[in-house]
Amino acid sequence: MPSLDTIRQAPKALLHDHLDGGLRPATVIDLAAEFGYHDLPTTDVEELAVWFRRGADRKSLELYLETFSHTVGVLQERDAIIRVAAECAEDLAADGVSYAEVRYAPELSTERGLTLDEVVQANLEGFRIGKERAAAAGRPIVMKMLVTAMRQAARSVEVAECAIRWRDAGVVGFDVAGPEKGYPPTRYLDAFDRIRRENFHITIHAGESFGLPSIWEALQFAGAERLGHGVRIVDDITVRDDGSVELGRLAAFVRDRRVPLEMCPTSNVHTGAATSIREHPIDLLRRLRFRVTVNTDNRLMSGVSMSSEFAALDAAFGIGLGEMEWLTINAMKSAFAPFDERLRLINEVVKPGYARLRAAESRVVTNVAGAAGA
Ligand SMILES: [Zn+2]
Repeated sequence: MPSLDTIRQAPKALLHDHLDGGLRPATVIDLAAEFGYHDLPTTDVEELAVWFRRGADRKSLELYLETFSHTVGVLQERDAIIRVAAECAEDLAADGVSYAEVRYAPELSTERGLTLDEVVQANLEGFRIGKERAAAAGRPIVMKMLVTAMRQAARSVEVAECAIRWRDAGVVGFDVAGPEKGYPPTRYLDAFDRIRRENFHITIHAGESFGLPSIWEALQFAGAERLGHGVRIVDDITVRDDGSVELGRLAAFVRDRRVPLEMCPTSNVHTGAATSIREHPIDLLRRLRFRVTVNTDNRLMSGVSMSSEFAALDAAFGIGLGEMEWLTINAMKSAFAPFDERLRLINEVVKPGYARLRAAESRVVTNVAGAAGA
């Protein structure tokens, strides 16, 4: 079983992480004071961290999303967005993440007059600063942004056009997020059409709190290349008592076409999409060799990091370094960055990184065996 320290050193790729779900608690408090946000439940760092976690773990996506009012509340100024985005890059790099696509809905930061473009620009500027600091600390990271439209708002076309405008500056795709029930992907077809006609990329939150119809619409009407969560695809899989497995048409399509599933195990337990990590469908799906990837979703609300998610999966299913490498390569293959950039990371960072860690592990095993023999 790899130690947490080994897992931290292992190169990791992250495809599903929300900027407004990953603030440092101390930064939330600083920004609230700096920019006059008075609605925080507490100004004690520890208490606030606990408050976010407790607020998230209520087995409902709608309740989970309520906690975001405070993070979004302190993200209404350009400097606040830059700081949070820079710290995001630094925190991910410190956790051993080599490639990250972090998403944000610019329409959430327009309460005090920022435009969608100003929000995206500040976000990208923060990534640039954080990336530089991480590289200086010996932890290089590639940071990309996904631009999200909120399901309950009616600005998806505008947001999609904004995403396209920033594609050469670090935005790699478009997503829709927010409450899933009552807001099917087909509501936003104009936005998805716009993205597809520009040969740009789409991922959609689907199959998290709602089932197969949402996944079907995301793939076959909206043109999603990846699924945010996609957990409910298990509803189309039958596991019989003798252990044999039968895939329905949709599940077969998802596996055959190698549709990436951006799975976020702990977040799914908190929103009630899964009862526990041990019972999370990720185990069945990875054993059936769906294109599974592991992600954090909201590091603040769910109290996780990429390393802690890998460690939790290792504790539940004994995935080990071999499977961590497979999950990481899955994520790199599924990333929206250009092909040559992905290939470089796989060949120059991911594979050599895991090879080094495996060699170190086998040396430990040999030494222990040698000591036992003596
Ligand atoms: Zn999400």
